[in-house]
Amino acid sequence: RTRFLAVDLRAAVRRYQPRSCRPFGHKGSFGTAVLVGGSYGKIGAIGLSAMSALRTGVGKVFIQAPKCGYEILQTLTPESMFEPAGESYVAAINPVKNATYGLGPGMDTHPESASALYDFLKNVQAPVLLDADALNIMATDPDKYLTLLPKNSILTPHPGEFKRLFGPSDNSMDQVNLASEMAQKWQLVIVLKGHHTAICGPEGKINYNLTGNAGMATAGSGDVLTGIITSLLAQGVPPRDAAILGVYIHGLSADLYIKKASPESLIAEDLIQGLQKVFRKLV
Ligand code: AMP
Ligand code: MG
Repeated sequence: RTRFLAVDLRAAVRRYQPRSCRPFGHKGSFGTAVLVGGSYGKIGAIGLSAMSALRTGVGKVFIQAPKCGYEILQTLTPESMFEPAGESYVAAINPVKNATYGLGPGMDTHPESASALYDFLKNVQAPVLLDADALNIMATDPDKYLTLLPKNSILTPHPGEFKRLFGPSDNSMDQVNLASEMAQKWQLVIVLKGHHTAICGPEGKINYNLTGNAGMATAGSGDVLTGIITSLLAQGVPPRDAAILGVYIHGLSADLYIKKASPESLIAEDLIQGLQKVFRKLV
């Protein structure tokens, strides 16, 4: 069941058609990502996801975040379009045509955000990515939310979020096995983040990522991954490929960083900057 990453990674790269392979492409050819999250005091998280999505080659990015983040986000990432989703937390998630959604970074777990997430998931058709507080909201009543998720949606929990959502495990090996079981049961891609992130597919395959280092153990690191994978999904990369490729790219950015600088100094923004060089190596 455990697959060598290299084989599936190479297949994913082969299937990926980024901008450099499509000289006649325009921004409409490379998809639209909608990043939903942020709350008063945690606005930066969704900004990091949006910038990461842009640096991963998506055509257009919308940010749906509370109004208190408007000026911050438009200054941080003028390339992104802002849509107000509430006053100081997300209270409504708006439909955007033919867009791919990544939800959760900095979102908080306010009851109004929970019902906004529930209403959104009731209507969504295409696979979505759920991370951070979107997972924490789901953990309040897992079955209620999990049954709504479109097949092949992607969850990106760290071990703590995973435990809240699916219950405790005795050790990390058991946790990976439980992740794989849940991926099959709910027909999802579950990315269990850690030193060697495990990507568990709906058919029962497990891939362990081999890039990345302890420099990534820093705030905002996971928000970057959310943007990267959402961007790949929006560009039409199949969900499991998007997860495998996204986790690899994310870790490679950190590995390139520590060739020139110390892991201690790494911040999430460096992972985004590093994507410039990562793509040189990849395509
Ligand atoms: P989050 O906890 O949501 O910010 O996500 C942290 C990200 O950093 C995940 O993608 C982890 O895989 C990665 N990460 C954290 N610590 C390490 C580590 N010691 N080695 C490799 N990757 C790590
Ligand atoms: Mg996180």
